[in-house]
Amino acid sequence: MRTSLLALIAALLWNSGARAEGLEALSGQVTLVMEADRPLPSKAIQSMREEMARLFGASKVRLQWADRGETGLGFEAEGIVVLRLKGECRMPDLPMPPDERGPLAWTHVSEGVVLPFSEIDCASVTRAAQSALRGGERSLGDVFLGRALARVAAHELVHILLQRKEHVPKGIFRRGLTARELVEQFHEEDERGRIVLDAGGKPAS
Ligand SMILES: [Zn+2]
Repeated sequence: MRTSLLALIAALLWNSGARAEGLEALSGQVTLVMEADRPLPSKAIQSMREEMARLFGASKVRLQWADRGETGLGFEAEGIVVLRLKGECRMPDLPMPPDERGPLAWTHVSEGVVLPFSEIDCASVTRAAQSALRGGERSLGDVFLGRALARVAAHELVHILLQRKEHVPKGIFRRGLTARELVEQFHEEDERGRIVLDAGGKPAS
């Protein structure tokens, strides 16, 4: 098991051109295997995929999606990254105060290696997203939930692709995104709504 994980990571790194810098340096096939405890609203899934595609649009990463249900024992795909959605990823009917005690998501690390396995805490993300919505946005809750999940997932995926535990000062790969930053529709050139990687964000070679 461990050997195959390391082989996977090696394959991911091999695909991440070590010479280019920043987001453009990221390349290769990534198959995101979604493993949700409970089914997500279809609008949230659609919105999540669109936002992930937008966030990685400037990179050469080719994102594919698979559901855990489709992936039996013999499932094979390039660059598998497991994304586990813990709890219920569904906007609560009544507003809930944001729960800021725990992280929104985390990625497993073993002996210094960032593993291709992230977990998202649905309760934290849904509460944060809902608390950040304003006025008419609330009627499109699932769309905003999908966007928030995408930003959290993209952040974790960058940790995995770069094999990097440290953050950058700006954008989605910053530490401690605010609830509003998870849902805001930023202008395309606004760094707060993009993955911004400096030269230090180069993949390890
Ligand atoms: Zn992080």
